[in-house]
Amino acid sequence: AMDAARTSWRLGADKVIILYRRTRAEMPADEMEIEDCLEEGIEIMELAAPVGIVKEQGKLKSLRCIRMKLGEPDESGRRRPIPLEGSEFEQQCQMAVAAIGQAPVLEGLTQVKGKDIGVTRWGTFVVDTETMKTNIEGVFAGGDAADDGPTVVIDAIRDGQRAARAIDAYLTGQKPEAKPFVVKKEFWSKPGQTELGEVKESPRHEVHVIDVELRKSNFNEVATGFEYEDNEHECERCLSCGCLRFEDCNLRLYAEQYGVDMNKFKGYVRRHKVDDRHPYIVYDPNKCVLCARCIRTCARILPISALGLVGRGFQTEMRPALNDPLVQTSCVSCGNCVDSCPTGALTFKYPFPGRASLYTEDGKTHCGFCSLACPITVKRFGGDRYFVGSSGVWGEYLCRYGRFGHELFIKQKRIVAPEVRSGRERRKVEITEAGQMIVRGMRRVADKYGPDKAAVFVSPELTNEELYLAGRIAREGVGTNNVASLSILGAGKEAGVLDRSLGFTASTADRSCIDRADLIICNNTSMESDHLILAVKVIQAVKAGAKLIVSNSALDTTDQLLSTLALDPMRGRAAVLWNGILQVLLDQGYFKAGFINKIEGGKEFLARRDFGMERVSDLSGVAPEGIRQAAEIIRKAKKMVFIHSPDRNQDQAPGDMETIANFIVLLRAVGREADLLLPRTISNSASLEIMGADPVFGPGRVAPEGSYAGAASHAELRKLLTDREIRAALIIGEDPLAWGQSGVWFENLEFLATMDWTDTETTQYADVVLPGSTYLEAGGTRCNFEGQVIEFSRTVEPPAGVSGREILQVLAAEFGIETGSEPFREIEGIMRDKLGPRRCFYWNTGQERVLDEGKLRLVAAETGFRTGSIPPPLTHGEKYKKQIRDVGTDRFRVRY
Ligand code: SF4
Ligand code: SF4
Ligand code: SF4
Repeated sequence: AMDAARTSWRLGADKVIILYRRTRAEMPADEMEIEDCLEEGIEIMELAAPVGIVKEQGKLKSLRCIRMKLGEPDESGRRRPIPLEGSEFEQQCQMAVAAIGQAPVLEGLTQVKGKDIGVTRWGTFVVDTETMKTNIEGVFAGGDAADDGPTVVIDAIRDGQRAARAIDAYLTGQKPEAKPFVVKKEFWSKPGQTELGEVKESPRHEVHVIDVELRKSNFNEVATGFEYEDNEHECERCLSCGCLRFEDCNLRLYAEQYGVDMNKFKGYVRRHKVDDRHPYIVYDPNKCVLCARCIRTCARILPISALGLVGRGFQTEMRPALNDPLVQTSCVSCGNCVDSCPTGALTFKYPFPGRASLYTEDGKTHCGFCSLACPITVKRFGGDRYFVGSSGVWGEYLCRYGRFGHELFIKQKRIVAPEVRSGRERRKVEITEAGQMIVRGMRRVADKYGPDKAAVFVSPELTNEELYLAGRIAREGVGTNNVASLSILGAGKEAGVLDRSLGFTASTADRSCIDRADLIICNNTSMESDHLILAVKVIQAVKAGAKLIVSNSALDTTDQLLSTLALDPMRGRAAVLWNGILQVLLDQGYFKAGFINKIEGGKEFLARRDFGMERVSDLSGVAPEGIRQAAEIIRKAKKMVFIHSPDRNQDQAPGDMETIANFIVLLRAVGREADLLLPRTISNSASLEIMGADPVFGPGRVAPEGSYAGAASHAELRKLLTDREIRAALIIGEDPLAWGQSGVWFENLEFLATMDWTDTETTQYADVVLPGSTYLEAGGTRCNFEGQVIEFSRTVEPPAGVSGREILQVLAAEFGIETGSEPFREIEGIMRDKLGPRRCFYWNTGQERVLDEGKLRLVAAETGFRTGSIPPPLTHGEKYKKQIRDVGTDRFRVRY
């Protein structure tokens, strides 16, 4: 009727009247259409119905009408119109249009195999409005032809969706999906100011329409839509109150499964303000069911619970410790409590604006922030919007770097194409052109000064494939043996430090050895800050009765609360301390000189010892009681695990790893179980030596094949750097020019090429810049701290469209190096074939770890200690972790 009236007005009718036998309140038409009619001057005559036509000379003269009144409601729920006797009247008109509704033409559609499909008295199909099924099996109907007939398009779309799901279930023989269980806030009562907080009422902007005058005599679009400002306004009105856990809230899913009738649960509810003060976590106490899972998870991860229950009975609430804001408690922002919450009470803030339960595409890979390589799930919303969650497997946790560290990639502006310097500017070029420039630049300098003055430097965060390609580019492409990580060189570390004692520089076991240990010894390892997920295991072992000795110059809360004995040697002097403890055990006869002399290197080991108690105590700063106590605890232990972080500079001391290895050799010699775990703070530093990105080792951790100019050890390469001898460099993923200490190494550079995923101080000075990729963007492998090869997948597309590995392959080809299409397979071969009989590094499947303990030997003690500072971390991950530690999680959060 509204369409007919408005069309008549547009076609030139002077006056248009709609006769309606009920009142406007009962009209089935859309309210907006009624408003538009009135605006266009169309009259709606309520409670009037035509009963006849009056003609004059064969033409329409008027309609005979009757007045109505409203009686009781009919089956449609609307009040029934009743004619008022004697109220007839004539309404003059020149044209009458019957517009009393629409009905589908069901001709030929009402029977299937001789069976009638049920039809309503309005001529539409009878359907189940949840599944759109008719009474005939396999026949579905929706839209204007079903149920209550014609309505708006969006209803037809809804019917289509419901029918599609039901048809899918019918065809696949599955149970149709249950109707989602939903309780809206209004069910309890309108949300009040407690929940809305500072939010003020803000009316909706109406859609813009053209003036009535401009509508006459045409059928132009009346509604012109919204302007940009309207969209902004409407978005600002959003309370972002959507529940992020709609899809997987256990409470909602159980309610759905058991067909819960919410009306039975209606009653008094307490109203709480949503707490969103934590940088990463939102707590909505209104959705908390007091299951205490979060409390137990937090207590399991750390010895200090950041969460607890407060109040009694109906007043009980889950709250952060002492009812402080969570961000002000001991919370380390690991987010594991959120994973454990079965409802939407604890949720994450996305690393981008907005809050809604959105469909995500999930990709499985591993965290690249440290060598634990914890499994992660990358949840993509589309485009470059994503966030990282845990694996979803019970008992697998993440620390704050694994869970939120990817925000680093979102926050930074990316390098999206190769660029070459031209004066003060950089211009984008094709990858091959950039590759050719690097080949020319490196070879020009190598020809001028010799290949020993050229070098390739790699980040230990790169994949095995990238490290392998970088090593080959250095040796086969540039002709230099100068290939290494600046982060490792800068920290003064040498290659293969445990090869002489243990036969291999790697963990001697996987993390399960912690479960069996009755003594755990952590040296130069900040479990809370660097290896929280390893700390979970240590905490469980300590709770099961294991003792813990910690040796760090600064003790964190976990160290203090968990340890049986906490030692705090002066920086750089831990090797002296541990030699002092070893000396007590030698003096007590626990390690006997007789059998030590039989161990390879034993005589020299004994001859070069000078670790009297007084000297050790003076040099290390640890009181003699602490040294004796440590020796006593070790003497009583049967199964020991030493944990040492080789990449952590803070308490690194010359000879510390060799001293620990001596302990392992001696303990095993007296029949104790003793193992060494070497968690690396940089995700793939264990692979530098295996992949041949090291002056001492070629691929497979064997001596480089062929003879190349340049350094043969870390010390030689470090000397070339400190003497400013390097004239051409390709630096991949490290940023030495950000720091004075490492920046001076490159003062005499004549050519610099870099590869990185974001601009750094180093890329700013480069002649050629190649785009790199993050650990989420490049498929490949890394070796975790247990020696296992972990496969990473490409879960996010690199903005350059190609990964770092693919770019290095192009560069290798420009150098004339044949790499095959899949370095991944070459590396698998190296891991399987070249690592020799002692395989501490092994492929995920197939080969096992093999340790030949018969080759253990003692190495004469290192008596020196470290002086001077070490350059800060040069890789992205380490820089990010340092910044978080320095400024605090809250201030480091990505803000929009
Ligand atoms: S984020 Fe981690 S530390 Fe903080 S409350 Fe949750 S579980 Fe505890
Ligand atoms: S896990 Fe969730 S529902 Fe359970 S007590 Fe914690 S916040 Fe409440
Ligand atoms: S422990 Fe290491 S691998 Fe695991 S989530 Fe934390 S940074 Fe990532």
